[in-house]
Amino acid sequence: MSALVAPASLPVAEVFGPTIQGEGPSAGQNALFLRLGACNLSCTWCDTPYTWDGKRFDLRQEIRRVPVVDLAETTAKHPHALIVITGGEPLLHQSTDAWRSLMAVLRYTTRRVEIETNGTLAPKPVSLGVPRLVFNVSPKLANSGMPEDRRIKPEALEAFADLAAKDRARFKFVAANSDDLEEIATLTDRFRIPPHATWVMPEGVTPEQTIAAGRALAEDVIRRNWHLTLRQHVLLWPGERER
Ligand code: SF4
Repeated sequence: MSALVAPASLPVAEVFGPTIQGEGPSAGQNALFLRLGACNLSCTWCDTPYTWDGKRFDLRQEIRRVPVVDLAETTAKHPHALIVITGGEPLLHQSTDAWRSLMAVLRYTTRRVEIETNGTLAPKPVSLGVPRLVFNVSPKLANSGMPEDRRIKPEALEAFADLAAKDRARFKFVAANSDDLEEIATLTDRFRIPPHATWVMPEGVTPEQTIAAGRALAEDVIRRNWHLTLRQHVLLWPGERER
């Protein structure tokens, strides 16, 4: 009978690494990425549209079901790597048996884990039970092209802000100009996101764009007591997937 039961699996776009975590507080760290399919937003500048955009990509080719046991085996082969679960929006899968299985695997390891999320879905207890897991929360600004009622979900952001106060979450905002910094300030005030957990990442898909935007924003970011992160993978391997 059990042979007829499909093993718990997740929709996976990419498993890659070890490489480096390219951005945020762990930038530069040796990391293994699990990139899951599907997203509940459709940002204009999304750099991973192959995880969700069925109009531009054949998602049957881009995304495959991978048993959690296989994901666990892959992570075990790289015991020193930070595990980064990203997307798409990985928390869309929080209610599945496969997610519960993955969290159970991680709960009983000493692995450092990051979940990258757009901050629209509050974390469930199952996702909070992994001891060394932190959330990299990236709420989208107006520059994403998304209407505010889709990208700003107060209940979820309040939950992540509480976690940020306990050092279990940090916020990362993509910004192109000083108007974006004002928008970030409005959000950090509204949701009481602490400065120590606020990171700004200059928009850019080439090294030149990234550095130019970083130079334009750096002084203002420092003055506001926030942090700045570039995308190291864009600087090192522009345009390459699985980096
Ligand atoms: Fe892309 Fe992230 Fe926006 Fe989803 S939330 S569309 S993955 S940038």
